[in-house]
Amino acid sequence: MLPDLHTHTSSSDGELTPSELLARAARNGVRQLSITDHDTVSAYQELAGQDQGMPVIIPGIEFSTTWNNRGIHILGLNIDIDSNDLLTGIARQQQNRLDRAEKIALRLKRCGVSELFEKALAKADGGTIGRPHFAQVLLDEGTVSSRKEAFRKFLGAGKAGDVRQYWAELRQVVDWIVSAGGTAVLAHPTHYRLTNRKLFQLGREFVAAGGSGIEVCNGVQTADTTSRLGQLCTELKLHASCGSDFHGGDETWSQPGRFSPLPPDCKPVWDLW
Ligand code: AMP
Ligand code: MN
Ligand code: MN
Ligand code: MN
Repeated sequence: MLPDLHTHTSSSDGELTPSELLARAARNGVRQLSITDHDTVSAYQELAGQDQGMPVIIPGIEFSTTWNNRGIHILGLNIDIDSNDLLTGIARQQQNRLDRAEKIALRLKRCGVSELFEKALAKADGGTIGRPHFAQVLLDEGTVSSRKEAFRKFLGAGKAGDVRQYWAELRQVVDWIVSAGGTAVLAHPTHYRLTNRKLFQLGREFVAAGGSGIEVCNGVQTADTTSRLGQLCTELKLHASCGSDFHGGDETWSQPGRFSPLPPDCKPVWDLW
């Protein structure tokens, strides 16, 4: 069983509480787990003081960043969650997320949807607010018949609710992670729909910024994707990471511990720790 280094809880847009996620991961045989909520480490504050058996926790986070006007996700793994630079960065991203959520609500209103800011904020329930909370409100209100439809019509790439200009630059985010003693990993590189050339450029700039890993396996993916990313990882001389990106029970997401194995020629990211 490989470590699961990419999961979400109700501290951001996941369904399970941190304790519930730990129990689910343990049940699935996960021995090392990183909870990588979007722009927050509050799951770790919630777990503090609890008896830690299996799985062993590797503190982590998933930051939203911008690179060349695109939204790129960067994982910070094995971080010191008390680092001042990291916590300052998180506070900035959280404020930006609130401002962004107001903008998303405004843009949706212009599309004829009712005012959703307060309702989405209530859905986030003190955790990191994001588009999935708007998707859930749109579903609850009957505007759409599934969260998938909410993304297709209102929130996905290029739609009214796809607001990106609020994130810190990729370079800045890598600095926060490195300053917290962590390993910066480029998350799910095929999700950005980049050409091979652009993806390679992103990879090179990420390395120049201080990045050291690439997520070669994210959830269950095709053998083609794994081999493409394994090759990119080797070419860029990066270490390879893997994780389920588990968010919750529906079929959109892999379960904890369920993802494709790393290609044998990739150096695992945990060799750095
Ligand atoms: P945000 O953090 O607000 O940018 O929202 C991004 C999150 O929305 C991702 O981490 C996913 O959890 C979720 N997401 C993105 N695209 C889709 C989709 N097409 N269907 C369902 N959830 C999605
Ligand atoms: Mn998410
Ligand atoms: Mn992501
Ligand atoms: Mn994720």
